[in-house]
Amino acid sequence: MRAPGRAWQRGAQRGQERPRPTWERGVELETVRKRLLARREELARRASDTGADLRRENEPLSADFSEQVVQRENDDVLRGLGDAARGELVSINRALARIDAGEYLRCAACGAPIDPRRLDAVPYTDRCASCAH
Ligand SMILES: [Zn+2]
Repeated sequence: MRAPGRAWQRGAQRGQERPRPTWERGVELETVRKRLLARREELARRASDTGADLRRENEPLSADFSEQVVQRENDDVLRGLGDAARGELVSINRALARIDAGEYLRCAACGAPIDPRRLDAVPYTDRCASCAH
């Protein structure tokens, strides 16, 4: 387990200013957590809306054949949206677990700090820019 607090204390005991590294100051984990939780709620709501549409709770399948074709094409779009939302939900849950484990700011592949700007743009990434490419 990392002990950044202890290193900070040692610095303080020697009477030295020991500012936190930029990449740590640049990411407010509680803000990120709130963002991820809000996004997760939004996705869950959208997924249940999509489910209701697919089950035709709001609109019965038309008796008209060409209208049915349009409706089935629409179903394919909804299904795709559902898959994307589900994939994003998995990523968000993983990111929340990484925050809890204290691993959020480091690349899961090489251990280097992830650029705060990258985390801001893609909050559920677990790779630094060079490992992601
Ligand atoms: Zn990396």
